[in-house]
Amino acid sequence: MQEKPYFCPNCRSNRVKFSVISSFNQRFMKDAITGIVQEVTEPQQIQDSEPMIQCQVCSFTSNEMRFIKQAEREPRPMTPTNPTYM
Ligand SMILES: [Zn+2]
Repeated sequence: MQEKPYFCPNCRSNRVKFSVISSFNQRFMKDAITGIVQEVTEPQQIQDSEPMIQCQVCSFTSNEMRFIKQAEREPRPMTPTNPTYM
């Protein structure tokens, strides 16, 4: 995940609460006759260059870039009480 601001392009009210959805690869051995799972390895995260992000407000799910691009298009307005940031 990139350390950049997100902004939900769907509800356009959330910049803070998100979930990341990632895939795991977990190997296991099965008994050929009984079908019982015998050996399970530790799950390994599949490295996606672009993880899926879900907005916790509206449940909209998309790739990370859409959230970053939306934040770049509509940056958070600076507070008028702190004009040095302008
Ligand atoms: Zn949203």
